[in-house]
Amino acid sequence: MKEYYQIPIDKTIEYLKSNQQKGLTQQTADQRLAENGLNEIQQGKKTSPWKLLWNNINNLIVYLLLAAAAISFAMDDLAETIAILLALLLAVLTGFFTELKAQKSVESLQDMIYTTTTVIRDGKTQTIEASKVVPGDILLLREGDAIAADGRIISSNNFACIESSLTGESEAVEKSADEIYEEEMPLGDQKNMVFAGTAVTRGYAYVVVTETAMATEMGKISGMLDEASDDKTPLDIELDKLSKAIILAALIAGVAVLVAGVLTDKPFVEMIHISIILAVAAIPEAMPAVETITLSKGMRTMAQHKALVKALPAVETLGATSVIASDKTGTLTENQMMASELVLSDETHYEVTGEGYDPEGTIKKDGEQIKASNNQNLMEFIQAGVLCNVAHIDQNKEGQYEVVGDPTDGALVTLGKKVGLDREELEKEGYEKLAEVPFSSENKYMIVVYEKDEQRQLIIKGAFDVILDLVEQSQETKDALRRQNEGFAEKGQRVIAIASIENYDGGLSEEEIKNSLDGLKVQGLVGIIDPPRPDAYESVEIAQNAGIKVKMITGDHPKTASIIAKDIGIADYEKIMTGKEIDEQVDNDDFEETVDETAIFARVSPENKMQIVTALKKENEVVSMTGDGVNDAPALNDANIGVAMGIRGTEVAKEASDMILTDDRFGTIVDAVKEGRIIFDNIKKYVSFLFACNMVEIVTIFASVVFLLPMPIAPLHILFLNLIIDIAPAMSLSFEPAEDDVMARGPRSKKDSLVNRHFLTRIIFSGVIIGLSAFVLFRILLNGDHSNEYVQSAVFSFMAIA
Ligand code: ADP
Ligand code: MG
Repeated sequence: MKEYYQIPIDKTIEYLKSNQQKGLTQQTADQRLAENGLNEIQQGKKTSPWKLLWNNINNLIVYLLLAAAAISFAMDDLAETIAILLALLLAVLTGFFTELKAQKSVESLQDMIYTTTTVIRDGKTQTIEASKVVPGDILLLREGDAIAADGRIISSNNFACIESSLTGESEAVEKSADEIYEEEMPLGDQKNMVFAGTAVTRGYAYVVVTETAMATEMGKISGMLDEASDDKTPLDIELDKLSKAIILAALIAGVAVLVAGVLTDKPFVEMIHISIILAVAAIPEAMPAVETITLSKGMRTMAQHKALVKALPAVETLGATSVIASDKTGTLTENQMMASELVLSDETHYEVTGEGYDPEGTIKKDGEQIKASNNQNLMEFIQAGVLCNVAHIDQNKEGQYEVVGDPTDGALVTLGKKVGLDREELEKEGYEKLAEVPFSSENKYMIVVYEKDEQRQLIIKGAFDVILDLVEQSQETKDALRRQNEGFAEKGQRVIAIASIENYDGGLSEEEIKNSLDGLKVQGLVGIIDPPRPDAYESVEIAQNAGIKVKMITGDHPKTASIIAKDIGIADYEKIMTGKEIDEQVDNDDFEETVDETAIFARVSPENKMQIVTALKKENEVVSMTGDGVNDAPALNDANIGVAMGIRGTEVAKEASDMILTDDRFGTIVDAVKEGRIIFDNIKKYVSFLFACNMVEIVTIFASVVFLLPMPIAPLHILFLNLIIDIAPAMSLSFEPAEDDVMARGPRSKKDSLVNRHFLTRIIFSGVIIGLSAFVLFRILLNGDHSNEYVQSAVFSFMAIA
């Protein structure tokens, strides 16, 4: 049997009963979906209701209660036996239903997060949920897409994928439809195939889907990865520890009761009975349920605030965030880029009026409006910016102008419109694009080669310093340009340099183009403004007051970044590191410390982002880091909270993150952190409440034993207190509103655990006060002429109320 990578494209499509141009019909797709099931890799993450029920039955408390019931039965106390069994049933069912409900709510929130992909069906290109993809579907894969299924490439352009998740190879792999293989090939070498779980780093391709879901290569290995990570969160570990401590205390009390009982000649069975009940009293049975409810409630609140959190533990981690490392462009700023100033290589200077992407606007020179079309140099410069460009400007339903594509490119499209230049018009007039090197954050430039009337022009536009290193111009011109660049950057403008070669005669592949940049000349610079988001200042202030360090990460010039940082109130806006400095200092002993003290990272590459995360984590920071591109995925994965942009972000970034901002806004992260803190506070409240309650019973019984008195309360009372009375207040504590100082105190440090001395003092203090009061009441009542039932009822009522 031949594999897909060994057979020609047309045979593959025929075999999969598809159509290269039109794709599947919706009807066939629906049929295949019904036959094959959803395109999902089951990770065994979902707990089935049965498993949940079993978890609630299969635990220590249930066994202890069963033992207690058995002893009651042996002692002929039928009423108590039934009561214990009822309590048991109640405990199991409440636990089960609350957890089930919480799980449902978590799942419905998780359903809001899905990956999309572009398919051709019925001849139309459409976006669908990745889980609905079926074999035979024709997919259009573009840069930034997460690949949803295995497929054979049927046509491609400059197409490359990152397959590290599957093959471990971290370099992008060039792929193309043209390859075909005779022999057997390992996955990494099948250049005509794409695989689920990998991502597109550049170019585009049409592929026909060969396998979905568990039949994909990723599906096959995911079986092996199953069950690998059932990590306990730091909170879980702490709560476990606390439970163990309390159970130990109960054990000691239990043994003491037993010994005291034997010494005072009480029946042995009864003593065992009481010891068991004491153990029941000590176990904080309600805690897991209350914890799940609290976290899932937090998840819901965050979703209402436009932050989609993927899993419960992240809710708690968010509350501990000590550093927010945020992208500048689009998260702290509006991403409404407008070219506001121009300067040509002869140092003539122009201002541009207008707003956002609205094509209304004029060009001014020394404050006077000019007619641009009279100035050839200026027109050629603006035209270069229009041609070396992949964005479009559209009007949305409300009539607002919006950019489709890169906002920086959009600014240049708008600039062109202001002087009557339009890419499509130019192409109609005979300009033909022969080659393109797309913009990337590593290169920080974009190149195109255009031909008209048999003359080829190469245009490159990008970051000023990068372009300046490539051009061949006199030192004087370079110095002059450098001054102009500084001038723009000092106003917080993003600077784009545009350079060109007029009679380009080099090759057209990416490699060849990069090697034939001789004779490149700068035409001019564009200063682009991108105003800070109106609420950025306030959010930064809130975060900083809450002791959270706000760090800005950007590919822009350090000056530009610093000005914007100052504008939005980032403290230490003068502490800047560039990507180059990071690369140079990464091996220094004090690198981590330096990074931790730096507020702005400028001219960074995606690798730098990773280095920043690693350094901050070494400094014990809890890092929330934002990202949007394919190359941000590793840093997003590694950050304590990876934050992806819902609007601007690629599917890959969304998959790698822990939280998605549906509005791309910095303020949303701060809101989520606040919610996380409230949740943690509330967890602390009810945990201390539950443990204090358990202390009360232990103290009272223990004191009675020490003074060789009878039992102050009956076993059933203890059960009732624990399983019913304690739960309602604990639940309500989990819904407490924010404390006044929730964003006025510093972040909880990693070392400062939930169970600290303050916490223990509080539990012990309230437990002992109420417990001893109950004991005193008991002692007084014993002196009176009361029945045993009367005394125990009084002590029970006191405990319940207290
Ligand atoms: P940011 O973190 O601000 O998004 P980028 O990596 O996108 O940074 O951009 C870095 C620099 O690259 C910018 O300062 C600008 O000079 C240049 N640049 C940005 N976008 C483009 C583009 N579409 N084409 C050419 N150059 C660009
Ligand atoms: Mg960018």
